[in-house]
Amino acid sequence: ENVHVPVANRLGEEGEGFRFAMKGLDGGRINIATCSVGAAQGAYEAARRYMGERRQFGRALADFQALQFKLADLLANIVASRQMVRLAACKLDEGDPQATAYCAMAKRLATDLCFQSCLDAQQIHGGYGYLKDYPLERLVRDTRVHQILEGTNEIMRLIVARHILTQEADLR
Ligand SMILES: Cc1cc2nc3c(=O)[nH]c(=O)nc-3n(C[C@H](O)[C@H](O)[C@H](O)COP(=O)(O)OP(=O)(O)OC[C@H]3O[C@@H](n4cnc5c(N)ncnc54)[C@H](O)[C@@H]3O)c2cc1C
Repeated sequence: ENVHVPVANRLGEEGEGFRFAMKGLDGGRINIATCSVGAAQGAYEAARRYMGERRQFGRALADFQALQFKLADLLANIVASRQMVRLAACKLDEGDPQATAYCAMAKRLATDLCFQSCLDAQQIHGGYGYLKDYPLERLVRDTRVHQILEGTNEIMRLIVARHILTQEADLR
């Protein structure tokens, strides 16, 4: 309060502060999305390991095709999320005028897909997935908040929709 900053030290034009502050969030969204990708990768690896170890009805879980399909979808969603986050990070590095929209898209997509991946990996662990003895309980909790932090995923959709509708954006 009551701090006086000389005009010469101002970063931009008067009234631009909110825009600058919001721009700082672009990198933060890449950060959160990356945390989700890492957590989902860990969840996938734990589920893959567990499917080899756990036996039910005389067979390893890995022998059940329903779980094999779940594992296949898990990995595809993680790879897609990682690529989306890297694309947004490249746009940000290049100073692309569409970077804010790409960061919002990446944050929304990666945090939604990776939370679902952690839930699926938890399901593969059965009851053990719910207990603190296994890592899934924490990974699910951690990735859940990524849908809220650094701007909720509803706000990410708002940013992207506004960008599409007002900037004649060429997003592809
Ligand atoms: C663990 C944790 C750590 C945090 N760390 C930080 C931090 O370090 N720094 C910091 O600044 N903040 C931090 N936050 C705050 C976080 O960024 C906010 O909680 C988040 O941005 C959502 O704001 P809110 O809680 O006020 O929700 P609200 O704005 O009250 O939103 C409530 C609900 O309404 C929806 N909603 C709101 N407006 C709209 C709209 N226009 N259209 C559609 N839906 C809408 C939201 O998506 C949400 O689902 C942290 C939060 C948590 C949980």
